[in-house]
Amino acid sequence: MLNTHIFTFNLFQEHTMVAWADGPQCIIVDPGCHHPTDFDELYAFLEGKGLSPAAILLTHGHLDHTFGVKALQEKWDIPTYMHPADGEMPDRPFNFPFIPLEDGQMIKIADMEFKVITTPGHTPGSVCFLDEGNRLMFTGDTLFAGTIGRSDFAYSDYDDEIRSIMEKLIWLDPAIEIYPGHGPSSTIGNERTTNPFLEPFNELGEDVPLEL
Ligand SMILES: [Zn+2]
Ligand SMILES: [Zn+2]
Repeated sequence: MLNTHIFTFNLFQEHTMVAWADGPQCIIVDPGCHHPTDFDELYAFLEGKGLSPAAILLTHGHLDHTFGVKALQEKWDIPTYMHPADGEMPDRPFNFPFIPLEDGQMIKIADMEFKVITTPGHTPGSVCFLDEGNRLMFTGDTLFAGTIGRSDFAYSDYDDEIRSIMEKLIWLDPAIEIYPGHGPSSTIGNERTTNPFLEPFNELGEDVPLEL
């Protein structure tokens, strides 16, 4: 089982997530901690659970998902994983070192394992992290409950984003729970059948009541 805790940090109401299996090692996904109280909240949680961060995983390079990276690297000296395409976005002067991710790569951290699924669109280097065994996926700003990530940035591409979702995410096990970078959680099955952005492809699923 993979345990998760979701914080909502910074002006963008971004989800910083802590995940751990048996512990005591954990990962931090998209540390958007910005205000001192964000850091206090994160540190108090980790201390309370006896968790020690082993790595930072970034779904993409946007500021609201990376505000806290440098401070956490300085505190724990832990590796940060990000797709290199987001290291090249012209308006992102990254101030932290990172290990580049590749599509299909398996990342093993302590007793956890995630498959990297590249999903360009919202940003060129957007990725999802899938824990296949526990049917849980961090989708960043690619796929949300009932919507998809914005694609109006200069480096975004709507067609790429739809293609990423339709080709790589939507056919996954419908029971997979998705944890997006903002807003509520959902499942692949629910998004496949009800997400209006995927409407031409929606199909009725057993998990969706007909009165919808
Ligand atoms: Zn974003
Ligand atoms: Zn975001």
